[in-house]
Amino acid sequence: MIAFDLCCNQDHTFEAWFQDSEAFQEQFSKGLIECPFCGSHHISKLPSPVAVHIKGKHTRKQAGAQTEDVALELLEEAYKFIEKHTEDVGAAFAEEALKMHYGVTEQRSIRGVATEAEEKMLEENGIKFSKIPVPIKKHKSKGH
Ligand SMILES: [Zn+2]
Repeated sequence: MIAFDLCCNQDHTFEAWFQDSEAFQEQFSKGLIECPFCGSHHISKLPSPVAVHIKGKHTRKQAGAQTEDVALELLEEAYKFIEKHTEDVGAAFAEEALKMHYGVTEQRSIRGVATEAEEKMLEENGIKFSKIPVPIKKHKSKGH
């Protein structure tokens, strides 16, 4: 939960709680936030430097969010490393892995995509490979 200090056009200031900052943005942009004093929907966010309060028992959630960010960064780093040190063979991954396994081509580091059937076939041939999730780029622009 996240709290924002808000203010209506009658200068009533109040604190409102939201699931997260995105929930706030959504309700804010749709004009769903109402002043508890006069019912006005003309709400603005106070330019307070401490607009976000995390209450005690929720700090763990916040820490979790930070850990997620760090994990995502590490994943991006790992992916960059893999991108730099492996050859992208795309959909030919299974074929290339097989060729290397049977000495048709030289051993090298490759990355690519494989279908479930191809993965099964690789496993049956005793070929080791790892799958890593590709980090999803966060969308920073909010439209309009
Ligand atoms: Zn008001």
